[in-house]
Amino acid sequence: MLVAGRIERDSIEETARGLHSKAVLLRDLAAPYLSPGGPPAAELELRIQGLGREIGARLTVIAADGGVLADSDELPERMENHLGRPEIVAARQAGRGEASRYSDTVKARMLYSALQVGGDPPLGYVRTSLPLTALESRLADLRGRIAVGAVTAALIALALGFFVARGITGPLGRMTGAVHAIAAGDYTQKVPVDSTHEFGELAGAFNAMAGQLQERMQTILTDRNKLAAVLASMAEGVIAVDRDERIVHLNEAARKILRLQAGDLTGHKIWEATRTREVCDALAQALGSDGASERELRLVAPPRDLYVKLHASPLRGSDGQLSGAVVIIEDITDLRRLEEVRRDFVANVSHELKTPLTAIRGLVETLLEDPAMDEATRMRFLEKVHRQGLRLSQIVVDLLTLSRAESDGAVLDREHLDLREPALESARVLRASADDRRIQISVEACEGALPVKGDYEVLRQAIDNLLDNAIKYTPPGGQIWLRLKQEDRHALVEVQDTGIGIDPVHQKRIFERFYRVDKARSRELGGTGLGLSIVKHIALALGGRVSLESFPGRGSTFRIHLPLAQDLSKREATPTGA
Ligand code: ADP
Repeated sequence: MLVAGRIERDSIEETARGLHSKAVLLRDLAAPYLSPGGPPAAELELRIQGLGREIGARLTVIAADGGVLADSDELPERMENHLGRPEIVAARQAGRGEASRYSDTVKARMLYSALQVGGDPPLGYVRTSLPLTALESRLADLRGRIAVGAVTAALIALALGFFVARGITGPLGRMTGAVHAIAAGDYTQKVPVDSTHEFGELAGAFNAMAGQLQERMQTILTDRNKLAAVLASMAEGVIAVDRDERIVHLNEAARKILRLQAGDLTGHKIWEATRTREVCDALAQALGSDGASERELRLVAPPRDLYVKLHASPLRGSDGQLSGAVVIIEDITDLRRLEEVRRDFVANVSHELKTPLTAIRGLVETLLEDPAMDEATRMRFLEKVHRQGLRLSQIVVDLLTLSRAESDGAVLDREHLDLREPALESARVLRASADDRRIQISVEACEGALPVKGDYEVLRQAIDNLLDNAIKYTPPGGQIWLRLKQEDRHALVEVQDTGIGIDPVHQKRIFERFYRVDKARSRELGGTGLGLSIVKHIALALGGRVSLESFPGRGSTFRIHLPLAQDLSKREATPTGA
């Protein structure tokens, strides 16, 4: 509409200029008529009527007193005095005047241009005018066209804007969606790449970035899973905390050893998770200036206490800054027990060896001190020395056998043999001592061979020990059965007696080294307390096991279970007793 206003102004100005030019011409034409003594006004009337029609404007000549002398459109006598008309007033003052107003004479809005004719005093005035109606209707038409053009342009701009915006918001929307999905963890997101669009390059870069992100996340995930798997499968407990002593990682072993509650403890303060003060202290120390530390402690954990070793150390980031601490909890209970067993064993061996040695020393010293000892006493002393010597050597032999069997059978021969052979040989050799005690040995052997893989001598020794015990702990007149059979894909040696039996309290420990129900009786009978321990370890070394069934006062049944040779791969190694 700004344009329409401007055009209107320009058009009016242009029309006014045209009117002025015409007025100038009219002034020249009218001047002689206005001069005193000029041609008659009627002639002028005629001339300007013709001229007015030709140039398409209304022409008026006004006398100096305001009376209309001639007019191209109206009869002058019908027209009132024009001296007060604004354009005439202006012309009188400035030589020329313009005005635009409604004309009662022609009943339309008119544009006027007036000029003064002659100097001061003036001869009169000439005036040209045009109705503005035509101009106004042209302008209205123009305004209409401009409005239609503007609306059309606006609509086209709107439509263009819509399509352009859609072209931008579409890909942007898809990208925003993809970014949201990636933020939510879905790294497989891709946006379509339109190579003709400016967004094509951006989409390509975005997809490349998403791809790299996915790869990196995959690597991080794989590494994390590997680490988690390693930590989860560790026998040692691992607890890592951040600088605020909040748990960052805690593996299953740690949970088990420290008996922590189930559920995710990540983010909990360490002292909320465990009451074991030493663990909290070790971590606090590692976070403080003291750094790494090592300590051992005993955890009261019924039914059996645990011995654990704590290794705590600070954790540092790649920049060397302290980021937390980690404690590794090692269950050293078995190690401790083993040490205890070893200590007991050394004490026991020393004690067992000391008894005969002390006896021998005493006897020999007496012999040395008393050269005049009579022959019979000397012989008795020497016999005692001999017996103690035999006992010493028996203990050493048993210890060596035990050590051979305990070394997991590595030093044992593995030959294919029929288990019945060493068993029958053993029964044959020990039958004499059984007869001495009026004890009967009955052998019940299966018909077919009992193929096992083992060391003949060692197997014979194990069966010897069982038969020897049966003979020792069965009162005269008793009965012993040696049974050889196949059971559950195992070869079975069973030694049953009608002896004194073993109280259930002792049954559990009977296979331990040097364990004896009645020490004095065992010694008296020449026992070392190692026999059953040897049997157990031989069975274990050959992939088998031992078992016991005993009733005090009624007798005992000892069994050795060995894998059949053709089934050696499926070894059982579940010892009973010890
Ligand atoms: P020892 O040399 O004392 O016989 P063992 O290890 O062979 O040592 O046996 C350990 C203990 O088990 C024996 O001292 C004895 O108390 C008990 N024992 C072993 N065999 C029998 C059995 N057949 N009947 C009763 N008690 C037995």
